[in-house]
Amino acid sequence: MLEITFIPALADNYIWLLHEGTDAVIVDPGDAKAVIWRLKAEGLNLKAILVTHFHTDHQAGLPLILENYPAPVFGPASESITGCSQPLSGGEVIELLGKRCQVLAIPGHTLGHLAYLFPGALFCGDTLFAGGCGRVFEGTPAQMVDSLAKLAALPDETLIYCGHEYTEANLRFAMAVEPGNTGTAKRSAEAAFMRLRGRPTVPSTLALEKATNPFLRCSEPAVIAAAQQRNPEAKDPVSVFATIREWKNEFC
Ligand code: ZN
Ligand code: FE
Repeated sequence: MLEITFIPALADNYIWLLHEGTDAVIVDPGDAKAVIWRLKAEGLNLKAILVTHFHTDHQAGLPLILENYPAPVFGPASESITGCSQPLSGGEVIELLGKRCQVLAIPGHTLGHLAYLFPGALFCGDTLFAGGCGRVFEGTPAQMVDSLAKLAALPDETLIYCGHEYTEANLRFAMAVEPGNTGTAKRSAEAAFMRLRGRPTVPSTLALEKATNPFLRCSEPAVIAAAQQRNPEAKDPVSVFATIREWKNEFC
């Protein structure tokens, strides 16, 4: 059975560790020491490294990890990824740990950003977060909306493994956008409770994101109305998205 756990790294990054028996795959190693220590402690063989995008906090551990574990590195072909031996651009299907893994192109946060979809488990880096989404650094709001729509079309029960523990702040913002969304209020309270106990709020499910994440709800009347208070021109999903994304940038 595929087991998925996390290695906490840096301030709020999650390095995901997948293992099937003693064979392991890691996703977005922003820090080497934590990964090497964990692989040694659990006696795991590193079979592959997946990288969602080039930002330092998702790949800074690669040089030292590769010195210790010469594993293939999968990452965006169009981005600079240390030791990338398996360049990908989305649409590929790869086999890892005996499982099928689909590669999805989800540009917006960066232009080459990828997601890795294992059966029932999505690793989506800094594109879709629990309760929020990544900043649009390189792409356009329209690209980000398309990318989020691609993820939102996956089965509701898909587990969402994102790259950061940003959930509490994201949900504070979600409450500001949709104060009447009781699901968001409940989720926000639960997230605060979990964080108080030092527990991760990730993974979430796609169903929960669709019900409470404002960035997946840009066609909902309440989200459109909230966006229009800041920008009366916000009507279609892209302009609503762009408006609330800018609002979030100022919010915290
Ligand atoms: Zn990033
Ligand atoms: Fe990041």
